[in-house]
Amino acid sequence: MHSEVNPWSNNQTVDVDRLFAEFGIEPVSEVARRLPEVPSFMRRGIVVGHRDYNLVADAIRNRTPFHVLTGFMPSGLPHLGHLMVMKEVVWHVRQGGNGYVAVADREAHAVRGISWEKCREYGKEYLKALYALGFEGKTYYQSRNDRLKDLAFEASTKVNFSELAAIYGFGPETSLSHAVSVITQVADILFPQLDAGPAPTIVPVGLDQDPHIRLTRDVAYKLRQFTVEDRGDHISVRSKNAPEEALEAVHRTFPGSKKYAGHVDVTGLPQARVEDAVREIEIAHGGFGFYLPSSTYHIFMPGLQGGKMSSSVPESSFGFYESDKSIRKKVMAAKTGGRMTLEEQKRLGGEPDACSVYLLNLFHMLEDDVELADLRRRCESGELTCGQCKKETLERVQAFLSELRDKMDSVEHLAEEV
Ligand code: SF4
Repeated sequence: MHSEVNPWSNNQTVDVDRLFAEFGIEPVSEVARRLPEVPSFMRRGIVVGHRDYNLVADAIRNRTPFHVLTGFMPSGLPHLGHLMVMKEVVWHVRQGGNGYVAVADREAHAVRGISWEKCREYGKEYLKALYALGFEGKTYYQSRNDRLKDLAFEASTKVNFSELAAIYGFGPETSLSHAVSVITQVADILFPQLDAGPAPTIVPVGLDQDPHIRLTRDVAYKLRQFTVEDRGDHISVRSKNAPEEALEAVHRTFPGSKKYAGHVDVTGLPQARVEDAVREIEIAHGGFGFYLPSSTYHIFMPGLQGGKMSSSVPESSFGFYESDKSIRKKVMAAKTGGRMTLEEQKRLGGEPDACSVYLLNLFHMLEDDVELADLRRRCESGELTCGQCKKETLERVQAFLSELRDKMDSVEHLAEEV
């Protein structure tokens, strides 16, 4: 038996309720209220769930450090389907996050057989798009980051093949390089904390990527030397695999604490202060002090043709540099929620929730909630025909792409410096 949520599976149909119930993903609405400003991807139900996002929301509100990270596999040119995660990362950077972007060239090479040269060429396009959207922070190629590779090796000491088989369905024929690329992704997610110090880290992903998040959280936990446990009547710092000197240092740091075999009782001290001090002690003794990474989960925009959006189905999406003619053709041929005849459309109105054109506006092309609500009203009342609606949407797409391309051209040097 292996997980049905396999990031490399072609079938990305994900049962949201089952994921919530089975794997403990929480709905995002509650935690979004902690944010000073709720982004459109949360208001509009695109990001639906999270793990431990409260740590990040609090960091945003209190202006304390946090990291935001994503990775892109350069197996082809970036397209519409990559835009959501890019916007989520840029939004978090604007809220004060330290931005990190990994180009997962090792994964593209190992899993998809992409040449290193092509990885570089495609990777540059992802980075150009990110910078054009306003990204600031660090970017790297997995294959050129030696500290990342060392971290991946360390992480690999905490994962065995039966876990990989359970999560990804690895079998006797699976290439070892698949395992290396999995552990490299684990290291990607933890890398910001190695590079800039332990802090809450947000990884915005699609729901299908949850197995990577769970694996990484497990590794981060196993790499910790201590746990801080609040048992109601007492708080203790418990050694998992800490050297004896580190346990001794915990005892010395907290006057009045009591040291026992394998743990130090710190009852009466504020837990947050204990956690911070213990992280520093860990790092001083060769550990990492990692926070378990937090994640948010977004649903997928359907393809323009109504099926799944995928690089292997050209009509489902468009690239950022695709010709105007081709984009016009795709938008004008998109599947709508319109009725069979104009008369019916006027009488019954359209069905925006079943319409790729509406969803294109909801995901990306209409930033203003009032304008989006107006589009919905005009559709449902039958005031708007699908032909007119597509024309208006096409104009928005063209304006968006023209601005994006200008910016991508102007930030080319940043993508080249990586
Ligand atoms: Fe979709 Fe627009 Fe037609 Fe409504 S009017 S169904 S939003 S294309």
